[in-house]
This record gives sequence, structure tokens and C-alpha cells, in this order.
Amino acid sequence: MALKVDSLKCTGCRICEFACNYHHDDSISPIGSSLMFYFEEKKNYYGMMVKREKSLLLGRPEGEQVLQPGEQIEGAGASAKPILLRIACDHCEEEDNGPVCIQACPYGVLSMEGE
Ligand code: SF4
Ligand code: SF4
Repeated sequence: MALKVDSLKCTGCRICEFACNYHHDDSISPIGSSLMFYFEEKKNYYGMMVKREKSLLLGRPEGEQVLQPGEQIEGAGASAKPILLRIACDHCEEEDNGPVCIQACPYGVLSMEGE
């Protein structure tokens, strides 16, 4: 299973980050989330990063990109790097109703493939 991102639908509300953090440690904060929203200087350019077990997914308007360890996060800015230290997405396998980020997103940006 792997989380997928359709960032063209994303509004940057960041609810998914809070939901994921709550899943991991029951606290209302985005800092422990496996997801990180980011934006670039271009207007309405939103993206989402997902920390995976052995890679990093970048979901951007031009499509998805998977980065392996050591690869640069080109275009994501220095503020994006802290996600490399975060806990990896565990697909919410212990949640009764499935991935909480997918449930929390109001715009259908997130989905799980390989189910
Ligand atoms: S909850 Fe959905 S719309 Fe909001 S930031 Fe996350 S992916 Fe984007
Ligand atoms: S599936 Fe669960 S662990 Fe993975 S990013 Fe979404 S909320 Fe976080």
C-alpha cells in the first residue's frame, strides 16, 4: 500500500497534517505528521510530501515524484527537509476506519493505492 497525492485538488488547509499527527501520538499538532504541506512562490502551487519507510513522495501539480534517501528535494525549499526526520507513514493499519488523513481531507486529495 502507498499513499497517493492529487495536489491539484489541494487547498492547503493542512487538516491532514493534524489528523496524521493525532494518529501517531494523540496530540493536536502537525509536527509529528508523516505528511507535510508546502508551497512555492508560484501562486496556487501547492504540494504535499509523504514520508515513507524508505523514500519520500512529493505530490505536486506536475505529478508525483518518489525520492530515494540522499536525493535532493528540488523545489521544495529548506523548510521541507524536517520531514526526513519524521516517522514514516504506517498506512494507519491499526485504525478501524482506515487512513485518517484520507478521511480528514475535504477535497479528496489523498488516496491509498494497492489495497
Ligand atoms: S487536508 Fe486535503 S486539502 Fe487540506 S492540506 Fe491536506 S491534502 Fe490538502
Ligand atoms: S495513512 Fe495514516 S500514517 Fe500515513 S500519512 Fe495518512 S494519517 Fe499519516
